[in-house]
Amino acid sequence: MKKNDVNIFLEQYKDIYGSEIILDQKKNNYTDVDSLSKFYTIIKNCTKCALSKSRTNLVFGKGNVNADIVFVGEAPGKNEDLQGEPFVGRSGKLLDKILEAINLSRDDVYILNVLKCRPPENRDPLSSEVEKCEPFLQKQLSLLRPKLIVALGRISAITLLKTKDSLMNMRNKIHKYQGIDLMVTYHPAALLRNPNFKKHAWEDFKFIRDKYLNG
Ligand code: URA
Repeated sequence: MKKNDVNIFLEQYKDIYGSEIILDQKKNNYTDVDSLSKFYTIIKNCTKCALSKSRTNLVFGKGNVNADIVFVGEAPGKNEDLQGEPFVGRSGKLLDKILEAINLSRDDVYILNVLKCRPPENRDPLSSEVEKCEPFLQKQLSLLRPKLIVALGRISAITLLKTKDSLMNMRNKIHKYQGIDLMVTYHPAALLRNPNFKKHAWEDFKFIRDKYLNG
């Protein structure tokens, strides 16, 4: 088909079906996938970026698929890559303690990351990697549809909120993501590096407990 013929076809298609259908097909937002388990089988062998070459496991996410609260971290580290589960290293142990302090366990929540594969030496995700991986996160969150999304750390927050704001400015507010409440707090790794932040994180988690768990 010549380029002009393609344009004519697209125009006619748009007249009949509307432009949304054309955009949907280009974006592949997995509209026909209706469960996380099905979605996992679709993406588990992803090769969209170079991280697929160095990974041991793709870390899809784990927890209660009916959870009221979903935590979004940055990317798997060494332990997560080896075990195929999010937050199983030192940061994860701290996250467990924080959850316990507000009477939650991993079975009550769902935990996932912006990137599904480990960046080498735990470097920050590249924007090209985030761009390729983000449709997976978007689809997961649209299937989970919790009451609250908690972005752990700035990378997660700026990816979800499409801003370049500082963590400080993004904390202490209820944002919206796909119509779902979203809060931003410290990444557990930041709390391990700077124990002084723990008291602020505790305020965030008490707020989460009082607003989203007691009622
Ligand atoms: N840090 C993250 O952001 N995610 C993990 O899964 C582990 C550490």
